[in-house]
Amino acid sequence: MNRNDVALVTGGNKGIGREIVRRLAEQGFTVYLGARDPERGRAAVEELTRGQEDAAHETLTANSARREPDFADRHDKLDIRFVPLDVGDVASVEEAVKTIGAATSRLDVLVNNAGIMVEWDVHPADITAAQLREVYEVNVFGIVSVTSACVPLLRRSHNPRIVNMSSGLGSLTLLSDPNSPLPAQGFLAYSSSKAALNALTVIYANALRADGIKVNAASPGMVPTDQNAAAPFPRGDRTTADGAVVPVLLATIPADGPTGVFRGPNRLDDV
Ligand code: NDP
Repeated sequence: MNRNDVALVTGGNKGIGREIVRRLAEQGFTVYLGARDPERGRAAVEELTRGQEDAAHETLTANSARREPDFADRHDKLDIRFVPLDVGDVASVEEAVKTIGAATSRLDVLVNNAGIMVEWDVHPADITAAQLREVYEVNVFGIVSVTSACVPLLRRSHNPRIVNMSSGLGSLTLLSDPNSPLPAQGFLAYSSSKAALNALTVIYANALRADGIKVNAASPGMVPTDQNAAAPFPRGDRTTADGAVVPVLLATIPADGPTGVFRGPNRLDDV
């Protein structure tokens, strides 16, 4: 990674996405925090960067009691920039990518994090096509819009990576295993959208291999975020920081790392 590498994280204003933004910025990336709501997006950027400024100020204050602060005392401010981005709105996607391209001319990391779940307590037989469409708009079509728009900028990177936020609930193997630890039979819209995302991941990985673009899927494990606030089973005690570990590793894998793989929260060994 170069100090001025550029990343885009969709749905970066809260939950696991916001933690991915923070971690990439702490590694020196310039991070575009994509959010569909400008107020929520700007508030998240302010919150993430203000924490850093406060820490830098405290360090300077503490050090100035002993000696004059020098350059090494100054924490670099995290470079996090809000970009309006509704993944379900093609015009918004194109505008966001245009903004990034105009400022940086390339993109090194794309994290397709934005996702929704609308059916914790709906029986699969009661899901309507409209509900399926609503979920696919974000979890599947949104990924396609953002990825297609970003590929030209990713092709200009020396080390391009795409990470798709998937889920164990999208695993056909787990869903069809009667002994699976999954808490339910699966969710028609969400599980099938993440299964489709896993297929997209493999197909993009194969198609973009020649461009050097690695495309992988990450599952954060069960993290009690807003997405699963209404889940009818224990939501686990993983933090958003825990959930961000695998996606960030996949976003920064070296040249001999994998492409076209799915990595769950316990597969840190070979990412
Ligand atoms: P949150 O609900 O906390 O965050 C979801 C993010 O996606 C929010 O920033 C939300 O924005 C954004 N988003 C939703 N729709 C759109 C849209 N149309 N355009 C742009 N952004 C949008 O969920 P998590 O942090 O838990 O989820 C992050 C990812 O991880 C998702 O893909 C999810 O499916 C996946 N995941 C999560 C698990 C968990 O246990 N939490 C488990 C497995 C996978 P807004 O604030 O405006 O709604």
